[in-house]
Amino acid sequence: MDKDRFEKLKKQEASVVRSLLKKQNEMLGQSLLHLDHLIYLQKNISLMSMADISKTLADKLPYILFIRYFSLFLFDKSKKVLRLACHNHPDLKEELVLRPRDSEIMNEAIARGSYILEPDFSKSRFFQREKNPLFEHNFFITIPLMIENEIIGVLNLNDNEKGYFNVTDLDFFLNVSEFISLSISNAQSFEKAERLSVTDGLTGLSNRQHLEALLMSEILRSRRYRTPLSLVMMDVDYFKSVNDTFGHQEGDEVLTGVASIIKKLCRSQDVAARYGGEEFLLILPETNGLGARTIAERVREEVENHRFNHEGKTHSVTISCGIAEINNEENQSVASLIGVADAALYRAKESGRNQTILGGVNEIH
Ligand code: GH3
Ligand code: MG
Ligand code: MG
Repeated sequence: MDKDRFEKLKKQEASVVRSLLKKQNEMLGQSLLHLDHLIYLQKNISLMSMADISKTLADKLPYILFIRYFSLFLFDKSKKVLRLACHNHPDLKEELVLRPRDSEIMNEAIARGSYILEPDFSKSRFFQREKNPLFEHNFFITIPLMIENEIIGVLNLNDNEKGYFNVTDLDFFLNVSEFISLSISNAQSFEKAERLSVTDGLTGLSNRQHLEALLMSEILRSRRYRTPLSLVMMDVDYFKSVNDTFGHQEGDEVLTGVASIIKKLCRSQDVAARYGGEEFLLILPETNGLGARTIAERVREEVENHRFNHEGKTHSVTISCGIAEINNEENQSVASLIGVADAALYRAKESGRNQTILGGVNEIH
């Protein structure tokens, strides 16, 4: 081989190596950027509620994945439907619910348990309607979100600035989708555990969900057997100032103390619940409005006379009560009965607090 040719080949080789190194550098840079975004996402969506995860994904996902559009559907196992949880499409309905067979591509991704990548969706066999003018490049990736082989949702990604997806991008999407699956699954387990639990952690009384379920069956029973039924809603007066003066821990002590008094004065068939922060609700079966007022007044007086100790000093609180008595001539729902008690409570507050008011249906507007 002559010298010139040898030099030329050497130059060519050096240029190939240089361009390979450059490419490798670019890929490394991209991987670092991906890693950075993954950490950012992890910080933002782990240990959140589903509503917060949806909101954060809608805000951040396009930016993190460098894509234009995405939609995330959650799989409702009991109804076998996909519910749109979050997206950034201008033309998707917020409350969209699909059966998996309504979307062939999602259906197939779910059945296969692996992603489907269509470089040009309009040319794929899944394409049915006209090309969406929104999508410039028409890439479509559908990734089933799985936890231990169980489907929990589907993530759809379309379009990006570059106009193509490479292997590194795809790898990154799959990593991100795994992470999203984990966060969603954690949030769902947590929400389910909360739903299933029936007691309030601080006071040991029933929680709001449990109370509403019990009230439903008490209303039906009262309607069927024409027996009286009353509700008492109680709210600690100026509770905010207890927190402000003595701190939240003492505020919690007050809530526990009021709950103990309520428990002590309730009969075995009554249900006492913590309805909100410093609000309590009593279901009193077989009790008319006047009977309920007697019980509410007993609780109110005992709370008023109770002394709480805080750092060597005593203090006290008062409560206001609103009562609703069921009227079996009207088809009262859980919400309307609670509404009557709430309106009566509001009147007790307006009239100076530390008192009980018996409400009537006419009070609800
Ligand atoms: P009102 O007499 O009109 O009922 O006034 P209020 O101060 O009791 O009512 P407001 O609704 O303004 O304040 C209720 C406060 O209860 C605000 C909130 O920080 C506090 N709170 C809610 N849940 C808890 C809890 O679990 N522990 C403690 N310590 N405070 C709570
Ligand atoms: Mg309140
Ligand atoms: Mg209050």
